[in-house]
Amino acid sequence: MSLHVRPNQPSLDYFWMPFTANRQFKAAPRLLSGAKGMYYTDIDGNTVLDGTSGLWCVNAGHGRTQIVEAVARQLSELDFAPTFQMGHPIVFQFAEKLAAIAPGGKDGGLDRVFFTGSGSESVDTALKIAIAYQRAIGQGTRTRVIGREKGYHGVGFGGISVGGLVNNRRVFPQIPADHMRHTLDMERNAFSRGLPAHGIELAEDLERLVALHGAETIAAVIVEPMAGSAGVILPPKGYLERLRAIADKHGILLIFDEVITGFGRLGTPFATDYFGVMPDLVTTAKGLTNGAIPMGAVFASRKVHDGLMTGPESQIELFHGYTYSGHPVACAAGLATLGIYAEEGLLTRGAELANYWQEALHSLKGLPHVADIRNLGLVGAIELRSRDGAPGARAYDVFVECFRKGLLIRVTGDIIALSPPLIIEKEQIGTLVSMIADTLKTTA
Ligand code: PLP
Repeated sequence: MSLHVRPNQPSLDYFWMPFTANRQFKAAPRLLSGAKGMYYTDIDGNTVLDGTSGLWCVNAGHGRTQIVEAVARQLSELDFAPTFQMGHPIVFQFAEKLAAIAPGGKDGGLDRVFFTGSGSESVDTALKIAIAYQRAIGQGTRTRVIGREKGYHGVGFGGISVGGLVNNRRVFPQIPADHMRHTLDMERNAFSRGLPAHGIELAEDLERLVALHGAETIAAVIVEPMAGSAGVILPPKGYLERLRAIADKHGILLIFDEVITGFGRLGTPFATDYFGVMPDLVTTAKGLTNGAIPMGAVFASRKVHDGLMTGPESQIELFHGYTYSGHPVACAAGLATLGIYAEEGLLTRGAELANYWQEALHSLKGLPHVADIRNLGLVGAIELRSRDGAPGARAYDVFVECFRKGLLIRVTGDIIALSPPLIIEKEQIGTLVSMIADTLKTTA
């Protein structure tokens, strides 16, 4: 039963909320009713600064007119058309535009695009492509996939199998997978600015798993180049390069899950560009359409794509796809989003703000409860010491109080994760950081 019913509030009983403590939320709900630029408005008319781009997805800020108009136009022209043995122009057009900024750059980048409906679907798609590719090149025993502890790759059965967050896994069966260790090492790397110096040796875990399972059983290794959902865990310097080398040595495909890092989050179009390490497949979603319409995309190298374009031409090469793969309205939203990114230089704006952002976040060092601060591009995390016997409670209180003050942050365990829209101004960075500082000072 809803306890705090306001006149402008619907019944809260019927919507089963995802990744939410439903009963706790419904007893004291937070309801957003509007959004423009950097701000949400709640149903009481309060303004809330968006410190999280919604859920890591509204990279160009809210309520963008070009997207609104493109979506409306597309809906009235062609609301839906299948992409199984059929096509429509806008899906090919969008794929070509994406190929022009593909992870790894124009020449030799991953310019073959498979559309999905979400990040989870992108991950399961990439895992299936990897396994199908291995089989197509005569490596059919390679069906195991390797992920990493603390990794988040969505909630499909493939994604939870390679994922490394226990609560997402413990209740559900999984496909054959194993995990490298995560790279969070606060003893050696706390308060690093940018990439941590220590931990390249953790990439050798892939060698350990090869020794344990046999390379001939492993199709692919998937990592977030920067792990977001577990609380912003950065790759140590040289780690991703080493992972690439080990994967190559053993014929294992490398997948970067760029659902968060894709589309400018690190100050480059993709993390692949930031690190200069080329994976074989990249998964994306979120910023692909500025969060306006659900959509994901998997970028594949020509090697992987062409490896599957074999057999008789009348034969379907990959038995996989979704009703909404390449949905015309999502494509329209995506094309308009790419237009905004290009016009406003948003895919590289994070690089211009990164130092300012870094200094602003690290100014919180020394405040009550702060155990670590991590940052890269326009991403940040403030890890708090947990209350005795109540992990997560302190950060949750900070989250509730920040929202009351007019700031949306995201917390996971006792970590505050920040990823504002890429249109944020320096003054707004200042406001965001001082609201967090004020809240930390008064949090028990
Ligand atoms: N992969 C990563 C790295 C993510 O951060 C997320 C979502 O946060 C996903 C996959 C799942 O995306 P979705 O929630 O759109 O299914």
